[in-house]
Amino acid sequence: MYICVDFDGTVVDHRFPEIGKPVPHAIKWLKRLNECGARLILYTMRSDSEQMGNVLSDAVRYLENEGVSLFSVNNNPSQKDWTTSPKVYGDIYVDDSAFGCPLIKPKGFTRPCVDWKIVGPQLEHLCLSRRL
Ligand SMILES: [Mg+2]
Repeated sequence: MYICVDFDGTVVDHRFPEIGKPVPHAIKWLKRLNECGARLILYTMRSDSEQMGNVLSDAVRYLENEGVSLFSVNNNPSQKDWTTSPKVYGDIYVDDSAFGCPLIKPKGFTRPCVDWKIVGPQLEHLCLSRRL
């Protein structure tokens, strides 16, 4: 199961190009989804450039340092066999900008972020039920 996960507002608070404070429970749930066999794809607007610096690499390193395993970054290598579409294939997309995504606004955060207390258990359930 491929889960595409946004970064700013989903894993950390919106502080681009910096790395914001951790979104509550995001890392815990991403690691749990790793354990459930989900293939996590970092799906973010961040990109490394001379102008902005290594903001994508910063995000990847952040997740690695937190113990989250990424299947890939801004692409899904498995889709090359069956499509030329530039859209990254995922079974599920988790993004604070997605319509319907449960959000919270922790104190001190710049904008609402993903409510992992709601999203995490539902993804875990989906992941475990598809694995059977
Ligand atoms: Mg976002």
